[in-house]
Amino acid sequence: MSDADATRTTHAPAVDDRFPVPLRGVAVDLRTRCTHWDSAVDVVALRFGCCGTYYPCASCHDETADHGAEPWPRDRFDEPAAFCGRCRGRLSAREYLDRDDACPRCGAAFNPGCRSHRDRYFEP
Ligand SMILES: [Zn+2]
Ligand SMILES: [Zn+2]
Ligand SMILES: [Zn+2]
Repeated sequence: MSDADATRTTHAPAVDDRFPVPLRGVAVDLRTRCTHWDSAVDVVALRFGCCGTYYPCASCHDETADHGAEPWPRDRFDEPAAFCGRCRGRLSAREYLDRDDACPRCGAAFNPGCRSHRDRYFEP
């Protein structure tokens, strides 16, 4: 395994310093895939309202944070709340939600299955 493919697990309060945003999770690779979701389209990390930190998925929050997860609040949907693991761009919640299943900056495909548990990440 080369360095580029290496994964890293980070527990609160530490954050993974390979990323330009506060981010942590379980076995995270450089495209923000994790041990729970590691297909080619799982290349986005989402920010949580409780701590303002990005995680590849809610299970990563459950396993590495020191508090319960709260979704990103509706009154902050214009603020950055998604991080694309392909182009490393920050997307507002609205940008992410309006462009279903793809990054509006680089076109990376995102997992359409994420929609079914969206209320864990974004306040309905
Ligand atoms: Zn949190
Ligand atoms: Zn995960
Ligand atoms: Zn992108």
